[in-house]
Amino acid sequence: HATKKTMADHLRKYESVFTLTPQRMRMIVEAFKDTLELGLQKPDQIVPMIPTFVFGFPTGQEQGDYLAVDLGGTNLRVCLVSIQGEGKFEITQSKYRLTEEQKQDDGQKLFDFCAECLKTFVDTNLADADAGHELQPGEMLPLGFTFSYPCLQSKIDHGELIRWTKGFGATNTEGRDVAEMFRQSLLKYNLPVVLTALINDTTGTLIASHYVNPKTRIACIFGTGCNAAYMERVGDIPKIKHLGIDDSAQMAINCEWGAFDSFEHEHLPRTKYDAIVDDTSNKPGEQSFEKLISGRYLGEILRLVICELIDEGVLFLGQNTYKLEVPYVFDTAFLSLMESDPTDELLMIIGIFSHFFAVETTLAERQFFRALAKLIGRRAARLSACGIAAIVSKMGYLDEGCAVGADGSLYNKYPGFADRIHEGLVDIFGEKGRNIVTYHAEDGSGVGSAIIAAMTKVRK
Ligand code: ADP
Repeated sequence: HATKKTMADHLRKYESVFTLTPQRMRMIVEAFKDTLELGLQKPDQIVPMIPTFVFGFPTGQEQGDYLAVDLGGTNLRVCLVSIQGEGKFEITQSKYRLTEEQKQDDGQKLFDFCAECLKTFVDTNLADADAGHELQPGEMLPLGFTFSYPCLQSKIDHGELIRWTKGFGATNTEGRDVAEMFRQSLLKYNLPVVLTALINDTTGTLIASHYVNPKTRIACIFGTGCNAAYMERVGDIPKIKHLGIDDSAQMAINCEWGAFDSFEHEHLPRTKYDAIVDDTSNKPGEQSFEKLISGRYLGEILRLVICELIDEGVLFLGQNTYKLEVPYVFDTAFLSLMESDPTDELLMIIGIFSHFFAVETTLAERQFFRALAKLIGRRAARLSACGIAAIVSKMGYLDEGCAVGADGSLYNKYPGFADRIHEGLVDIFGEKGRNIVTYHAEDGSGVGSAIIAAMTKVRK
């Protein structure tokens, strides 16, 4: 009879599949760089490297009052942003919840709802100076529209929806110009606004974080999904050469990097748990990089490991585990809580398992869960470092150093996520990796949208 394996023995197996060596990370960075280049060279690539028609960084001197509408994954947000120059701004905002029905119903109705919410906001906040901004007769406010779904753009205030993501499926919208559709809705409600810019949240974060910290060169989102944007020289975007834009101009690129290694699965270290997440997702094969990193998936990866050990008769012997057997019940926020449990007994972990999943845990099991969360969270951060390193290396930012504005609940709330990205950058680049520093970017989707609306006005 073989001696019974301890939880520590089991952990060693997971350590070997979830750990990324510096050498492996450097290989990923090289492949990532090639993929970024390919996306700039040719249209219709897996990582689409979308030109945003946002030209260059703000000067920091932009000023004025702007409206922003942010259609995110769960909420619709309307903001009045007062930009004051020198990196300063004030923001007044309201949130409106979207129903599942609205996400799947006719697209024009969705934009009508956005306009209706904007109307309520304008009536409340733009009636007099005390409320925010007093609209003068005939005055039209510039409006930035943050729409974080992949769009093909040929100018800043147009954008054809390539496909819905993040669970949206509104009809009669894919393939159409969403800015134009929203303009139709704005007309219906007779709103005193001009839609001047359609932007992605990643691009908004890039611009807003540069406004606050001019050393910023890259922006990343780590939330439900995962994406990045940076500023590129137009001459280095061969696929838009036919537009005749000055080669020396700068344009923000929305990478849509969550798609890296999709379909081919050649470069990323996928475990069998990652393969299950992918196979059972609504879009198998797609968003491969995102599926190893973002908040939507980390909890599910951990849950799949737990289920495997339940099947092997290692965990929760004699207990009913049906509550753990439902896909996506284990939220990534639980990983954050498990990693930050300050008690020796791991009382927080006792609470999570007993309260949400009706199972009792031993101390050895709890230590194992915490260690497993750490492996999965650490891998996500180190892969994120590979993506950042690919842009840094391609653009030659390493010697001079740069700041990376980041946002999203995973980045903001997962303990140690930023530190692990920084460690990863040192593993990739050596000591020089310390020149690249990520920081929390405040409300990029609202403020960025307003600043881009301001930049657009200045250009005209
Ligand atoms: P979105 O990306 O939809 O705009 P967020 O940035 O809030 O919104 O990201 C939501 C994702 O973050 C969800 O997948 C959720 O599981 C995850 N999340 C929420 N809270 C935490 C937390 N405390 N720690 C880690 N992940 C979290």
